[in-house]
Amino acid sequence: MRLKFYGTRGSIPVCDSGFQQFGGNTTCLQITFTDTNRVAIIDAGTGIRNLGRDLRAMGHKQDQIFIAFTHFHWDHIQGFPFFPQAYDPGQKITLLTLSREQTVTDLREIFEVQMQEEYFPVQLDRMGATFEFLQVAEASRHFTTINNVPTVVSTQRHNHPGGAYSFRIERNGKVLVVCTDVEHGDQIDQRLVELARGADLLVHDAQYTAEELQKRRGWGHSSFDQAMQVAEMAGVKRLALTHHDPEHDDEFLQRMENLCRERFPDVVLAREGMEIQL
Ligand SMILES: [Zn+2]
Ligand SMILES: [Zn+2]
Repeated sequence: MRLKFYGTRGSIPVCDSGFQQFGGNTTCLQITFTDTNRVAIIDAGTGIRNLGRDLRAMGHKQDQIFIAFTHFHWDHIQGFPFFPQAYDPGQKITLLTLSREQTVTDLREIFEVQMQEEYFPVQLDRMGATFEFLQVAEASRHFTTINNVPTVVSTQRHNHPGGAYSFRIERNGKVLVVCTDVEHGDQIDQRLVELARGADLLVHDAQYTAEELQKRRGWGHSSFDQAMQVAEMAGVKRLALTHHDPEHDDEFLQRMENLCRERFPDVVLAREGMEIQL
């Protein structure tokens, strides 16, 4: 598996200079299954626009593209109307939730509403691509049949306003865990530690410093310290911190990365365009 960060910013895109080294686009991750050369996408923040352009530039053709959603806050769906492949009549796009505990009842409606004419000029049914909306309870079974390679996908609902989901993807002996938009509370969420157990790479929310987190209780995010704590408790090999706060500029994030490395040597702060091979 190979992971590429197309969006690392939390909450809202940031265009200002001094922020572009870590990136201004909101959450979007591309997973490439290198054995089959198929890609899957997690979240459609504004980074999905560049993801789509890159796929085109590479001549990557895939009859069906999957986009799985951690949740549907703006910063995780805002790029969807600008995903070039969504305008291709020959393209099938499957949007999906993965969890038995999912509380979203009508997935199509979320995107229809986002693109109703009061908000956007082109409506969902006029975009061009063929859309499929799937709410999958047993993710593992689903992906195994699609890719023909045993792929185990586990999910965990975690604390975030409106609910959000962490994913664990195991394939060919490698484990990727994505855990963003999570607020642990006073204790680290033990269920997430179990989900991340032994991962080769954990991608974790680190929007705030410990001090900032005190003032942002109930906003649904983690501190740098908490992310490292999860990584330590779960014994993960590498840690990538993401969902950077829109107020944190490059200089600040670079300083935080240096500090984090003193505690957890194999940690990076995710940068837009960064690729990690598992
Ligand atoms: Zn978010
Ligand atoms: Zn959120």
